[in-house]
Amino acid sequence: MPEFRWVDTHCHLQHAAFDGDRAEVLERSLAQLDWLIVIGDSVASSEQGCAMAGPRVHATVGIHPHEAKHADAAALEAIETLARREGVCAIGEIGLDYHYDFSPRDEQRSAFAAQLDLAARLDMPIVIHCREAEEDLAALVESAPVRPRGVMHCFGGDAAFAERCLGWGLYISFAGNVTFSKAQRLRDAAAVVPVDRLLVETDSPYLAPQPLRGKRCEPPYVQYVGEAIARLKGISSETFAGHVKENALRALGLSTRA
Ligand SMILES: [Zn+2]
Ligand SMILES: [Zn+2]
Repeated sequence: MPEFRWVDTHCHLQHAAFDGDRAEVLERSLAQLDWLIVIGDSVASSEQGCAMAGPRVHATVGIHPHEAKHADAAALEAIETLARREGVCAIGEIGLDYHYDFSPRDEQRSAFAAQLDLAARLDMPIVIHCREAEEDLAALVESAPVRPRGVMHCFGGDAAFAERCLGWGLYISFAGNVTFSKAQRLRDAAAVVPVDRLLVETDSPYLAPQPLRGKRCEPPYVQYVGEAIARLKGISSETFAGHVKENALRALGLSTRA
């Protein structure tokens, strides 16, 4: 065991994949990590995340673009109420996903805009999900009355889009797919992000990194993502893990007691 610990800035321990052993996974995760953030993607998962929040477990609340067709006024009001709960650090994950198109694109855009507005009203950071929707997402971010702050999660764009996100002031988080052999484009994007703007995550239960690709992903696997980026940056894992923690504190306004 190394002397230092990683953090997982984005995981979905609420997911049904953990129904059989959620408490054990959380216990093992907290034994190996400093802290983690459980991410909401619907009203139900946001409620569940709030219930898991504690001294080393932070939560975010929000409606994922996949769920945008359910983001009616009542759902948005429920998210607003949850956002005021203790232990909630951000609105997310929110954004656009034109790869799966599980919700109509116009409903994705209006759910994203409504939650950008919510984050601005509550003065909270956001966690953004963007897949194959860079231009529409940029239009909404750039026309928002209050420029959002926070994290572009599971970065999937190219180096030019990474630079655009940096220009907006966002932090950029990489997940296990950055370790895949064919992911040179993601590594090229990570190369342009300064170490004081980088985060790492697992997006558990999805995207287990090499050498565990294909398994159910768990928060401690963030180590492999962190090690891959540290190698890319030519710094030690310990140094990079320290940067990630400081960056997450700044990006999401987390209390240092975490
Ligand atoms: Zn996502
Ligand atoms: Zn996610």
